Amino acid sequence: MKRLFLLLLGLYLPLQVQGFEIVYPKSDNVSLYSDKTFFIGNENPANTLTINENIVPIHPSGGFKYPVNLEEGENIFIIKNENLKKEYKVTRLTSKNINNNKYKEFETSINIEITKDNVPLRSTPVDEGINRLQHLERGIIFTAIGEYGDFFKVKLARDDYAWISKSNVKQINEENIKSKILHFDYNELPNERIYKIKLSKKVPYTISEYHGLDVVLYSIENDEFDKYEFHISSEKLFGYSSYYEPDNTLVVKVTNKPSIENLIVTVDAGHGGDEFGAIGCLGDKEKDINLEIAKKLQQKLLEKNIKTLMTRENDVNMSLADRVKFSNKNNSNIYISIHNNALPDNFADREATGSEVYYSYPQSKRLAQSILKSLTEELQLKNNGVKQQNFAVVRNTNALSVLIEIAYIINPDDNAKLQSENFQNNVADAIVHGLENFINEK
Ligand SMILES: [Zn+2]
Repeated sequence: MKRLFLLLLGLYLPLQVQGFEIVYPKSDNVSLYSDKTFFIGNENPANTLTINENIVPIHPSGGFKYPVNLEEGENIFIIKNENLKKEYKVTRLTSKNINNNKYKEFETSINIEITKDNVPLRSTPVDEGINRLQHLERGIIFTAIGEYGDFFKVKLARDDYAWISKSNVKQINEENIKSKILHFDYNELPNERIYKIKLSKKVPYTISEYHGLDVVLYSIENDEFDKYEFHISSEKLFGYSSYYEPDNTLVVKVTNKPSIENLIVTVDAGHGGDEFGAIGCLGDKEKDINLEIAKKLQQKLLEKNIKTLMTRENDVNMSLADRVKFSNKNNSNIYISIHNNALPDNFADREATGSEVYYSYPQSKRLAQSILKSLTEELQLKNNGVKQQNFAVVRNTNALSVLIEIAYIINPDDNAKLQSENFQNNVADAIVHGLENFINEK
């Protein structure tokens, strides 16, 4: 029935279905921490659908999105048309996680060592948001001077402090944790510049982007400020990576801007397999639409002789870490993740339409802007701006990385467009144009 339904939709014929379908909330008995939610689904536009006696507007494609307010406790919603009646129970929970944490400074500081790889060093003691200073690896040592909740406050240098989660470190007995700089080496290759700083111990470091890269190594002996800094110019800068070699050498590799012939692009179709992503009004799954668009994007990039790889080409499960690994292993210098958007319950009454592009590091911001511009202009989609966000796929890739939310799959109008092959092709073209404009800048 559903296949026939979708087939008919593709032709924009009037629908001959009796029963409406609710795709969200995911069951008829849910509990959530929000003062609102919405009903998303589909119904024959010729029918009259009501939720608690209020008429639900239905898009010509059949899709609908209808926000409702929630009282504390149980809320009953009766959804019915001429033939069918369904009852949904939505329980609004009230949040109990009041923060009782207080900062406590240690009488005697302790030395700690990182026990995992890719551990975030943060500017605030909060496990979310844009507060990551750097990702650091196993074996790097610090001095902790206090604690707040699940975080240690660490002293990086004379005037520099940061926060690290207690679960990522262990206490060590070593007393002197300061390091000597033993050797500094610079190597210029046709495609990259390599900086190697040999140290006596693995110390924390940060790389921040400001007119190029500012590299700061902390806990350095014989410096008034306990740190060593150097700057890498923005000229030719196009992505970078950093890591420690086993002999305590910190390596910073800076990729030079490639010509379009030397680009390696990884296209990532978001979600897959058991992970559906968001569900569209028409019961369509985000993972499938993402894959359709990603395949078209790959095809168009290949037609331009741009080397293009796909994280997944089928409906399979793939972890975020594996997507990142795939991109880094193949030395890709552009990473484009394709998604379509939904809203959380507490934003249920917001207008949800159009495109946004996410990036994590400032080096990817121009690429994000360029793709968003071509996408929204060529497809007349609402431009919701570029946004900085720490999504794993844009945060951990060595390439310049963006995550594109093309449109809102839960919005009946956007959702109807996303079904169209023609629209999907135009999206792929627009992304290619955005990428080309970015590469041809300057
Ligand atoms: Zn998604």
